[in-house]
Amino acid sequence: MLKIIQKIFGSKNKNRKVIQIAVVDIASICNAKCPFCSRNHMPQKGKLIDIEDFKKIVYKLKNSEYTDIKEFRLYATGEPTLHPKLDEIIKISKENFPYVTLSTNCTNIAKYKESLSIVDHL
Ligand code: SF4
Repeated sequence: MLKIIQKIFGSKNKNRKVIQIAVVDIASICNAKCPFCSRNHMPQKGKLIDIEDFKKIVYKLKNSEYTDIKEFRLYATGEPTLHPKLDEIIKISKENFPYVTLSTNCTNIAKYKESLSIVDHL
């Protein structure tokens, strides 16, 4: 997975590999039906990331040669506020990465108001 991420967003400098943006698709489900959505064409459609798998990904990214992640993005193809452990996911992300981002359709944000307030870019 890291190789794919680096291929898409990363670059190499002389001494270390640099990822500009790391993307983790935490919820490939949604409560909307936008006609242009790519979600239904993705292999992970209909899934929520397991919190233990999420922790493993964060640990691997933090302890790998990819040490210079500028942005940690918590969405790709779905609605992240539908993940029941979003509070914990945001907390872990903020503890480990300097700039955490997330995209939402805003239909469920009241439930996670406090956690979303510490995300760097919505
Ligand atoms: S994931 Fe985004 S684009 Fe897709 S249906 Fe939901 S709100 Fe629309």
